[in-house]
Amino acid sequence: MSVAQNLAAINQQINQACEKTGRHPEDITIIGVTKYVSVDRAQEALEATISHFGENRIEGLLNKYEQIGSKVNWHFIGTLQSRKVKEVIDKVDFIHSLDRKSLAKEINKRADKPVDCFVQVNVSGEGSKHGLSPDEVEPFIESLEGYSNIRVVGLMTMAPYMGDDNQLREIFRSLRKLRDQLQQKELSHAPCMYLSMGMSNDYQIAIEEGATHIRIGSSLVGPYEE
Ligand SMILES: *Cc1c(COP(=O)(O)O)cnc(C)c1O
Repeated sequence: MSVAQNLAAINQQINQACEKTGRHPEDITIIGVTKYVSVDRAQEALEATISHFGENRIEGLLNKYEQIGSKVNWHFIGTLQSRKVKEVIDKVDFIHSLDRKSLAKEINKRADKPVDCFVQVNVSGEGSKHGLSPDEVEPFIESLEGYSNIRVVGLMTMAPYMGDDNQLREIFRSLRKLRDQLQQKELSHAPCMYLSMGMSNDYQIAIEEGATHIRIGSSLVGPYEE
């Protein structure tokens, strides 16, 4: 399938989920996750009007960025080691994996303008997932006041891969509640307007529960055989 065909099917699902919940499709940003595909396939996504790209590794991001450049928005969605921040900081528009003070310090130091960051939350409590526990999120975000190069634009989570629909919905709903609470605090360094949640197998539920950014890999640019 071409990326354009895949995207048409995804847009249909997005429209349905929006219709169900009275949301507007234009409030949802598709991040095309190109981590397993070639630069050519990423180019195809670009031609299919994808303008937000996500990579979870430094090498992948640099490789794609070299070819595609800054005309699109780059999202770093993977675990970010502090010592690697300097390699990508002038290329990324969003970081989805802020989950510790040491990383915040490094981003703040290396950036020369505010970077839009999502705080990653481990809602499901799965040991294998990165991110703060829900209890830790508010104190963490408050502690970032004064980091002038960090703007917390929202929260991000990864739901369990094998979760059933009710469990997924519960997780997305919890993240939204947490986001709503933070938004009400009106912290100038943390407007917290966005929710990055939903991947190929669960984005419809995520949208129904308020996702503003969905991170789609396999359904958009897969299958990965190529
Ligand atoms: C790979 C990845 C995705 C996309 O996964 P698909 O299931 O292929 O859509 C989304 N978010 C993160 C953090 C990822 O690493």
